Amino acid sequence: MQDAPFLIAGAGIGGLTAALMLGRAGFPCLLIEQRTQIEEIGAGLQLSPNASRILIGLGLEQTLTRFASTPERLQVLDGTNAASLSSMTLGHSMADRFGAPYWSIHRADLQTTLLDAVRGLGNVRLIFGRKVSAIKKNDDASVVVTCSSATQSEDVVCRALIGADGLWSHVAELLGDKSSPEFLGYQAWRGLVPINNWPMHLPKTESRLWLGPKAHIVHYPIRRGNAINVVAVTSDTDNRPGWAHLGERDKIMKRFRDWTPEAKDVISAVPDWSVWSLFDRRERTRWSENRATLLGDAAHPVLPFLAQGAALAIEDAATLVREITKTPDQLADAFRRYETERRPRATKIQNAARANGQTYHLRWPLTVARNMVIRRTDLSKRYDWIYSFILN
Ligand SMILES: Cc1cc2nc3c(=O)[nH]c(=O)nc-3n(C[C@H](O)[C@H](O)[C@H](O)COP(=O)(O)OP(=O)(O)OC[C@H]3O[C@@H](n4cnc5c(N)ncnc54)[C@H](O)[C@@H]3O)c2cc1C
Repeated sequence: MQDAPFLIAGAGIGGLTAALMLGRAGFPCLLIEQRTQIEEIGAGLQLSPNASRILIGLGLEQTLTRFASTPERLQVLDGTNAASLSSMTLGHSMADRFGAPYWSIHRADLQTTLLDAVRGLGNVRLIFGRKVSAIKKNDDASVVVTCSSATQSEDVVCRALIGADGLWSHVAELLGDKSSPEFLGYQAWRGLVPINNWPMHLPKTESRLWLGPKAHIVHYPIRRGNAINVVAVTSDTDNRPGWAHLGERDKIMKRFRDWTPEAKDVISAVPDWSVWSLFDRRERTRWSENRATLLGDAAHPVLPFLAQGAALAIEDAATLVREITKTPDQLADAFRRYETERRPRATKIQNAARANGQTYHLRWPLTVARNMVIRRTDLSKRYDWIYSFILN
């Protein structure tokens, strides 16, 4: 069984990080991804120091700094009148305080960096266009997993199964959790603006969060300042599960027509929109069963209102591999310790993200009280408990 691979389902950020760390620790891995390639979908990601610290520890700093931007600060503004509500310095101040940078990066750049590092290892086999479709056996001795493509399927005997297969995790379902994600009434509109098309009067080197009735907008630089990533989240009953669909420009322009001109300029600068319906899920009763476990969104999806979903997937991968390395012959114990350690933090961050969603989308007159509270809050300290995470 020692030579059998760890089978990782899903080459998202969590699965790739786990494969890289396991491979480097000397464990053979089989990484199965249902898509046929890593597509340029998903646009930007903010990577706070809790995540960038781990990626730097993996020796990826030089490559990632070729792609990432380091916004100077985050400004929070009222979307109806452009009043500044609060701000927080990012840039050098973050790196000084937490020993790692606050990056913003295109998701495809991060995934490609991780993928290249994984491909450089001799003991990780990567198969695209295949998905985990059944678990035939999962006991103290081994796991037997069926991997299928459109035309064939094969049973793979593996040392353990790691479900890094995202919000709609099929591995979780195969482990017995039949619950479904819940639509919470948010739509995320995402788009990229090449820097040459970005309005001159809007900042190029800072992140902004605009709050307005039943909607908010976030924008930040990526690709070393060569593009601005824009996310506009609206409260909306339209629910379309799965990957993004194209967003109609007229619809979003109309949605923000009563906002301040600067905020409207942000929206109108975006040439093409992709729209995601945002789903949440109740806490899973368990993440692990014998020789199988879950990580990242598969275990605990996080609404994007704290920019922590990918960061948590990276933290999960690092914690899981540390525990596997401690007791490679007692994997069920390793998975239990991993889950016990990760669950409270994941739940706390999920709840904080949910609360941000509610606060961001309040309606007048509650927005008046909300703005007063934000004005009095020292944003720079508010998330120390998230950013200071260090894996022991
Ligand atoms: C609008 C928006 C903005 C966000 N912004 C941020 C941010 O700024 N910072 C941040 O940290 N997070 C952010 N997130 C959250 C982040 O995108 C996710 O939390 C993160 O991608 C989760 O990574 P993962 O590896 O767990 O899952 P995923 O990225 O979902 O990867 C899962 C992979 O598994 C594959 N798969 C699925 N089923 C199978 C199967 N049966 N077999 C094999 N493969 C399978 C999928 O194709 C996919 O490639 C944002 C999310 C949204 C929606």
